[in-house]
Amino acid sequence: MFNKIHPNLDYRESDRDFWNKEFENFVPDKIFDCHIHMFNKEALYHKYQPECQMPNADFKLIQRYHNQVFPNRKVNSLFLGFPYAGTDTSKHNDFMFEETLGDSYSVKNRLTTPDCTLDDIKNDINRGFVGLKVYRIYSVTGDIANCRIHEFLTHEQMELANDLGLWVTLHMSRSDGCGDEENLKDLEEYTNKKYPNIKWILAHCARSFTYEPIRKAIDRLKAMPNIYYDLSAVTDVRPFITLFQKENLNRIFYGSDGIDSSSFHGTYGAFGTSWQSIDLDKIDVHFKHTSNRPVIALYEQLLSIKHAAEIAQLGKTDIDKIFWSNASREFNIGFN
Ligand SMILES: [Zn+2]
Repeated sequence: MFNKIHPNLDYRESDRDFWNKEFENFVPDKIFDCHIHMFNKEALYHKYQPECQMPNADFKLIQRYHNQVFPNRKVNSLFLGFPYAGTDTSKHNDFMFEETLGDSYSVKNRLTTPDCTLDDIKNDINRGFVGLKVYRIYSVTGDIANCRIHEFLTHEQMELANDLGLWVTLHMSRSDGCGDEENLKDLEEYTNKKYPNIKWILAHCARSFTYEPIRKAIDRLKAMPNIYYDLSAVTDVRPFITLFQKENLNRIFYGSDGIDSSSFHGTYGAFGTSWQSIDLDKIDVHFKHTSNRPVIALYEQLLSIKHAAEIAQLGKTDIDKIFWSNASREFNIGFN
């Protein structure tokens, strides 16, 4: 029996057996988790607090999480703010700042909405944040499914991010994610012309949970400067194969999307060009043909990364790049 460190992580013997069998010899002894969310309910405006079901994720809890899902690995983090509707962003960012005060092995991107002033951003960068975590739910258009980048990260904010050379973790909106023509044109303009000093981390394989977006976009994305990817939450093997075979491996970061979004038993299933998280404990399924049992979505992701690495014939140095050495180089942080 494992301690239940988080209400939404029911880590089982079958998960640990799977780790031992599949990942003990694959995942390096060091990991830089470039997509891990901190969350504090106290930072929500009062009227949002009673209905919030999200458990808190502070520094200590994230350490315990990493120890459980990545046994015997040294883990550094790029902490991200959690984009929850009703969040007082300065309170949330203060919380992240205080939680990480004693830790010199991690970096953090502040939660940033179009309401954040340039001074808010500058002050946080001055006290150690390296970049911004932006999200589509804050779009000024109110259309979270079809917004453009500048609708949830304003041009004024991008200008400042360009001046300061900030990182921006970007989860793209619009039906086809990175395969969307407007998104591609915007990124081409920003990276090549308008904001050449912003370093973009395109979350979730440039938001390609299925084969199609990244297949369509890869040649254009790889021609853009200052583009990076995190591999978080994707569990389909095909986007990883495309990235590993076609991108410069120096631009790829590992990310877990913990704790909340990858701890359920199931996958982010790809169905044609759509996808959906499938939590097997919430639907009526029976595994009659085998005594083997499902694993957490985080391990589905790792399994697909492993499989794609085999297909793309990556070596030990390549795997190290993805799991830790790229991030260690880019953020200039070693391991303790
Ligand atoms: Zn996330």
